[in-house]
Amino acid sequence: LERRITPMSTSAQALLIAMHPSDNVAIVANDGGLAAGTVLPSTGPGAGLVLRDKVPQGHKVSLVDVPAGSPVRRYNVVIGHAARDLPAGSWVHERVLHMPDACGLVDLPKATAPAPDWAPLFGYTFEGYRNADGSVGTRNILAITTTVQCVTGVVEFAVQRIRQELLPLYPHVDDVLGLSHSYGCGVAIDAPDAVIPIRTLRHISLNPNFGGEVMVVSLGCEKLQPERLLPPGSIPLLDAREPAASADLDVVCLQDEGHVGFMSMIDSILRQARVHLERLNQRRRETCPASDLVVGVQCGGSDALSGVTANPAVGFATDLLVRAGASVMFSEVTEVRDGIAQLTARAATPEVADAMIREMAWYDAYLQRGSVDRSANTTPGNKSGGLSNIVEKAMGSIVKSGSAPISGVLAPGEKLRHKGLIYAATPASDFICGTLQVAAGMNLHIFTTGRGTPYGLAPVPVIKVATRNDLARRWHDLMDVNAGRIATGEASIEQVGWEMFELMLAVASGRKTWAEHWGLKNDLVLFNPAPIT
Ligand code: CA
Repeated sequence: LERRITPMSTSAQALLIAMHPSDNVAIVANDGGLAAGTVLPSTGPGAGLVLRDKVPQGHKVSLVDVPAGSPVRRYNVVIGHAARDLPAGSWVHERVLHMPDACGLVDLPKATAPAPDWAPLFGYTFEGYRNADGSVGTRNILAITTTVQCVTGVVEFAVQRIRQELLPLYPHVDDVLGLSHSYGCGVAIDAPDAVIPIRTLRHISLNPNFGGEVMVVSLGCEKLQPERLLPPGSIPLLDAREPAASADLDVVCLQDEGHVGFMSMIDSILRQARVHLERLNQRRRETCPASDLVVGVQCGGSDALSGVTANPAVGFATDLLVRAGASVMFSEVTEVRDGIAQLTARAATPEVADAMIREMAWYDAYLQRGSVDRSANTTPGNKSGGLSNIVEKAMGSIVKSGSAPISGVLAPGEKLRHKGLIYAATPASDFICGTLQVAAGMNLHIFTTGRGTPYGLAPVPVIKVATRNDLARRWHDLMDVNAGRIATGEASIEQVGWEMFELMLAVASGRKTWAEHWGLKNDLVLFNPAPIT
């Protein structure tokens, strides 16, 4: 993909952005869109054309006459075929396009793309919390793991007490949170796919931002018993520190006969919390190389500018991170499915390509069981924002992965063990993708949005990137980066990418994001493809 944009010098002029010289459509960049009869400037895509229709911002305009049945190209990819004649200057939207079929998963190129010729980046550091297992936290948080939804109310009550009464005594601890979820009982826990929610919960409790201080609150009679959630040997930090105690998981069981009355449960949780807070409070930030960052990238509430401004800038920052030796995960199966051939070509080895194909095939079958395909991904907001279908959305989503070779693949809920660019297979659902990236060991999250979402996560700081100036202006105290300046020519993709990279190092060192400032925290939402009983 060539990141070719041709911005104009003033925002008052009509402005179209084409992604590739072979594209026969370009999108309107102007805030508020363009009126029918607008004459395009004499340079740039569609030079001198007169718009036949009113075209909203982010929507496509045909640059040449596109006869019915012929391909419409964007990102140098066929995103659909014209359902009727589209003379030059027409508004091209989802109702005038037929979507192409998904490409198959056989005969794909594997590890054929040449690796970019770039130099490693040295000297970039952040101040983080080094863990005994070598991972690094960007925050110092006490997390209380739960085995089952039944205990959520009790844990939340205890968390409020800990926040008010204990946290002031432990000034080096950033926060306390209960890892509440909807799993644990009333589920087919021996179904093959139950491995996904169970390992997700296990790995969330081991996120680097929790410092290896695992404490569990269980009910007692639930299907997901503490030993099944965290079997002996699954907590590396505790095991290294106290080898003799490695089998002893710290569990407060609410049905324990010793508990008489509600307050005795709360007292037990607070007593155990103190043990972990003591240790967390002794931790201090230390200088760590940028290679200790584990960044998850995601988009949500996407519009047609997502793939033009914010996502390419994230892709540039992804390349910087990979050059600095860090780990970067991109995800969202249904948003990359249509680009599978590009991705298998970029795999570092044929084995990585095969792993990617395996995850796509699993997801195809999962969707088929529900009688849908990847096209169920697009939302009404995507379409009114100018994304006609999942093919177009996917091309704009994949650019977040930059241009590095893909060096590893994770199945949903697995924990990351490699550096470099990783494909972590997850649903595209914002909260489920974020939850699975937390389980994979993410210590920093980058999230782009065009329509706007106030998304935030309790365990990991989320840097939000606006695709449009208009959103950045209205949501000035929710968006951390404005990539809309790329569309108007005020900044280049490279400039915004570097800005994001520097901001990542600052946020990893403790600077608060807007979501943290306001305390915005979405629920952890598990991916459970197994049956409920
Ligand atoms: Ca998403």
